[in-house]
Amino acid sequence: MSRKLTTSAGAPMPTNEHSLSAGPRGPLLMQDYQLIEKLAHQNRERIPERAVHAKGWGAFGTFTVTHDITKYTKAAIFSEVGKKTEVLSRWSTVAGELGAADTERDVRGFSLKFYTEEGNWDLVGNNTPIFFVRDPYKFPDFIRTQKRHPVTNLRSPEAMFDFWAAQPESVHQVTILMSDRGIPQNPARMNGYGSHTFSFWNDAGERYWIKFHFKTQQGHAHFTNEEAETLIGKTRESYQEDLFNMIEEGQHPKWTMFIQVMNEEDAANQPFNPFDLTKVWPHGDFPLIEVGELEFNRNPDNYFIYVENAAYSPSNIVPGISFSPDKMLQARVFSYADAHRYRLGTHYEQLPANVAKAAEVHFYHKDGGMRFFPQQTGHPDAYYEPNQYEEAARPDPAATEPPMKIDGDAARYDQADPDADFVQPRALYAEVLNDEQRARLHSNMASAMGPCSDSVKERWYAVLAKVHPDYEAGVRRAVEDDANAIPVTDETPTRA
Ligand code: NDP
Repeated sequence: MSRKLTTSAGAPMPTNEHSLSAGPRGPLLMQDYQLIEKLAHQNRERIPERAVHAKGWGAFGTFTVTHDITKYTKAAIFSEVGKKTEVLSRWSTVAGELGAADTERDVRGFSLKFYTEEGNWDLVGNNTPIFFVRDPYKFPDFIRTQKRHPVTNLRSPEAMFDFWAAQPESVHQVTILMSDRGIPQNPARMNGYGSHTFSFWNDAGERYWIKFHFKTQQGHAHFTNEEAETLIGKTRESYQEDLFNMIEEGQHPKWTMFIQVMNEEDAANQPFNPFDLTKVWPHGDFPLIEVGELEFNRNPDNYFIYVENAAYSPSNIVPGISFSPDKMLQARVFSYADAHRYRLGTHYEQLPANVAKAAEVHFYHKDGGMRFFPQQTGHPDAYYEPNQYEEAARPDPAATEPPMKIDGDAARYDQADPDADFVQPRALYAEVLNDEQRARLHSNMASAMGPCSDSVKERWYAVLAKVHPDYEAGVRRAVEDDANAIPVTDETPTRA
């Protein structure tokens, strides 16, 4: 038996087809509130898209601990081998808008919300272990270069390479972006990384610096530029199709979680700044330690509620997991939560995707937009704190984390070596990639920078030369080959 259609206030709707009018042909009456409500809701169905990471795909899953790491952290999520925690993931591209094609060359977001019994822990990572910039002052400018030009309203390779050439630390991430890994076939075929340096602290109050790695069990698979272009011609939604169907058909994508651990004392003795987001920790010095397995096994029953409204923020930590001096992490702790307050509203943490599912929530934040939930303080008269009420929520000193030992000596972590920004991209270029991968890197970079002015090209070649002479020569040759391959005719338009 069907249900009665009602207004949003619950009154039965006599019709959903015929507007109320003065005569059979109109005009309409203002009192047809049901029609006004319907049109007004349609006008409000969209919310602002994310300024970055607008296009995303998500799934629910399970994290299972497979190895004991309790000597490093007291976090309840890692308390025993075999323990399972529900996770909501959102993968995304960075620069493309909500309707952008899924297989564009870009970094991918790799965000995880662990619903732990000590509150939600968000790990807001990427499919790359590093990033383009190491200081948050540069972040808004960097993103501007990835978005549309204010006059042409087009993406601007000139802006991208002009910016990158001005700060050579970005060459590490640009190399990964232009390598095969720049276009994963779908999110199941790529790794995830926490990217920043985080910290763990244990029951004894000892702190360790930590990097997080999630290695795909499906194996890496990537598209070439040509394959991606052909696919985009057929569908712009291939990631959503692949992920949704994979999970519906019971092929549940999995990742193995690892950590790298650095002692506080070792951090001062590295040839690079271990809190610099443009640097990895070499595996040889800091081996991967296996922790657990992530499996994604449930499609959300509503995309908007659980993926579009999913709000991840590095500020969501739990006892035993914390931050580090990483300047980019420190800025994201503020700016991600702030972005959600702007985009979703003051009480966004109480939305179904974000509400802590496994922990009791008690706070004294009061009213404002979306105050649709009961008071969370534990007592009706306790709308302030401290107060006299026994049952009311109180702070828990046991959750106090040990002091982060910052000695105030900024130089302690600074890299003295002017070559430091080039050492790791050099290792990637010369030792990790093979000849074919290097050739594709040259050609991908050439097609990305082809439209740039000669002066920007020369400045970027100078950066590549500092990484490796073959890198500079290879990209220069590929740019020249591309230019020579374009037949110039009377009809060939010239760039302004
Ligand atoms: P290793 O040889 O131990 O590790 C090399 C890493 O490179 C592997 O993790 C591999 O990932 C990854 N890799 C392979 N191809 C690419 C690509 N096209 N883009 C990005 N990563 C790729 O060496 P080191 O730890 O000493 O690091 C050497 C260089 O490798 C670094 O300077 C860095 O550029 C890069 N790298 C290092 C990582 C780290 O955390 N140490 C992580 C990722 C890259 P996989 O295991 O999935 O095949």
